[in-house]
Amino acid sequence: MAEIRVENLRKEFGSFTAVQNSNFVVEDGEFFVMLGPSGCGKTTTLRMIAGLELPSSGKILLGGEDVSQKRARERDIAFVFQLFALYPHMNVRKNIGFPLLAQGMPRAGIRQRVEETARLLRIDHLLDRPVSGLAGGDRQRVALGRAIVRRPKCFLMDEPLGTLDTEFRDLMVHELRELHNRIRATTVYVTHDQLEAMAMADKIAVMNHGVIEQFGSPREIYDRPATMFVADFIGSPPMNFLPFAGALRRGAKEIVVDGAAVAVPELREDVAPADMALGFRPEHIRFDGGSTLRGAVYGTEYLGTTQIVAVETAGGMVKARVPADIRLTAGEPVGLTLNAARLSLFDKASGRAIR
Ligand code: ATP
Repeated sequence: MAEIRVENLRKEFGSFTAVQNSNFVVEDGEFFVMLGPSGCGKTTTLRMIAGLELPSSGKILLGGEDVSQKRARERDIAFVFQLFALYPHMNVRKNIGFPLLAQGMPRAGIRQRVEETARLLRIDHLLDRPVSGLAGGDRQRVALGRAIVRRPKCFLMDEPLGTLDTEFRDLMVHELRELHNRIRATTVYVTHDQLEAMAMADKIAVMNHGVIEQFGSPREIYDRPATMFVADFIGSPPMNFLPFAGALRRGAKEIVVDGAAVAVPELREDVAPADMALGFRPEHIRFDGGSTLRGAVYGTEYLGTTQIVAVETAGGMVKARVPADIRLTAGEPVGLTLNAARLSLFDKASGRAIR
């Protein structure tokens, strides 16, 4: 069992709080991604799990054992920084086997384990080649092989693809997830890239200013963002927000935005008079001459199969993703329908979702 349980984990650097009372559980075999903008506390959280940084308070349990005060090498984990650093003067076999040699494993054992690892990564035909002559993708696989050869309880990865160009990064995202499907080792992966997170994660924690704003599956986070920050951070273009003010009664089925009634899923509780925001994703808007939202086309961005259309409405600019074959010209008046089942409501003061 390599479940990771984080309880009220906190880290202060002097008077600055980098991580504020985090709580989450990564189940055995899960691929967990910590996602958020630069400086939000992802790396600090990861370093505490690794044992490279001690918490100011709170606990970390690995497979049920409290390791909060243990040193890094006493926790059975592998920390993968960038998947680049290889020993250029050694061949593939020696590069992959190095951590086992350093650990003092007998040669026969190393040989067997290296060969198994290479087969898993489909680089067994390269074992006796020098790493200096390898293509980029194979080099990355060798680096991965070196990280997994010890078979640690879990992997911690801090932006391992950070320095790769886009095409290569997409390939490695796919490879990493594939590898995970085969070995199912508990993994904690840090990135600021939402596409990477969505593509790989079983669970995501979205962090902002040291706080976990939401913890859930990629689908939950995309479909039901818990805060306006999450709704804005995930999705490209991000979720649209239109302001409106008022009170809502339990059971309300519509709200009035911009003079028009917008159907919303039934509310379970009363909402006191508040400044609210109606949130909707660009792909949940239809250009059908509807009357939920009226405006004028501001501009379009052609993307091949879809286009992003900016529409100026009384409540502000709204972006829609619609099929590319709809012809629209700047200045043209349009009527839009919002997909009622996919709307979110937020309290603007707290930023939290109302339902
Ligand atoms: P990035 O993607 O830029 O690494 P991050 O989300 O991983 O961002 P952290 O590296 O965890 O963020 O840093 C969180 C905050 O804590 C930052 O404001 C950083 O300046 C601060 N911080 C991190 N380590 C230290 C330290 N040793 N001393 C003081 N402040 C620190």
